[in-house]
Amino acid sequence: MSGILEGKSALITGGGGGIGRATALAFAREGARLAIADFNEQAAQETVALVNAAGGQAMTLTGDVTDSATVKAMVASVVAAYGRLDCAFNNAGIAGFQVDASGKRTHEWADESFDRMIGVNLKGVWLCMKHELPQMIAQGGGVIVNTGSIAGLVGLRTSSAYVAAKHGVLGLTKTAALEYAGDNIRVNAVCPGYIETNMTADTMRRRGAEIMASTPFGRMGKPEEIAEMVVWLSSDRASYVTGACYNVDGGYMAV
Ligand code: NDP
Repeated sequence: MSGILEGKSALITGGGGGIGRATALAFAREGARLAIADFNEQAAQETVALVNAAGGQAMTLTGDVTDSATVKAMVASVVAAYGRLDCAFNNAGIAGFQVDASGKRTHEWADESFDRMIGVNLKGVWLCMKHELPQMIAQGGGVIVNTGSIAGLVGLRTSSAYVAAKHGVLGLTKTAALEYAGDNIRVNAVCPGYIETNMTADTMRRRGAEIMASTPFGRMGKPEEIAEMVVWLSSDRASYVTGACYNVDGGYMAV
């Protein structure tokens, strides 16, 4: 039986990390040919090796999503290798501890930390769409999934620039959905709750008990549980879904 992404080509940014890697493996299981992009070359290569070992097809791309020329080149590489870009999962992101803002309230963030957070988590997503959309228009359609967050829906203490960026990602997602519906391009977002990856280790160490008390399932999510939503949104089974933001959060947003 063929998978629900059979024959599709897909670009995954942040593909060397938790959610991106799990999604790469789920995409490969469903028959997609992959380009795994990440800042961290070794991490991207490890994901590619895992995909290939599972019988899939993947190539490695490296570079910073905050650099327009790099992102343009990434998209060009996918098209050169696979002929088209059917699915894009714009997922690369960083957390506060990666810009020295761990535990800091709004007024305590350094200017450079704020800029880098917005640069990666918001502008990076926009740059990906900026370079993916022309290819999708030219080939007659495509699907984009952006990684939002529950931080795109509510405020979270000591995460001000992260929250601002993720609210922005949802705004970009909805706007692009409107603008490109006529081009047969669907644009959606997934909003994970607290997921077991490198990104959350610092926060969970500091505030894990409090966060789990606010999560109806009382546990963190697994990257694979986000991957399943991204697979579905990227597949033709979600053919009438655009401009939507799907929470995968163990009930966090229902409280
Ligand atoms: P990881 O840190 O495991 O993965 C993120 C990946 O993105 C890393 O491999 C990282 O590389 C890469 N990356 C970071 N900055 C850049 C950049 N400028 N250009 C290219 N790649 C970059 O974290 P997650 O898997 O948890 O995060 C994936 C996405 O999910 C992020 O957008 C995050 O905000 C979002 N998210 C995560 C949640 C969670 O609970 N884990 C909850 C809600 C949303 P490197 O290792 O070199 O930094």
